[in-house]
Amino acid sequence: MSSKRRIRKNARKGKYRHKDQTAATAAAISYQKEFGQFMNVYRCKFCKGWHIGHPKNRRLF
Ligand SMILES: [Zn+2]
Repeated sequence: MSSKRRIRKNARKGKYRHKDQTAATAAAISYQKEFGQFMNVYRCKFCKGWHIGHPKNRRLF
């Protein structure tokens, strides 16, 4: 028997999708505390989720 379950591990790399703005904001704050870098919270029009990103990347908005 072969296990065919696929687990999405892309969350570790790239963008993590947050379910709502509150979760994304909390992630941005924890990121800022840990790395000392401000992160913006924005709504993703592709996956309808929330992401955090560097303010420099204005294209994300
Ligand atoms: Zn997205």
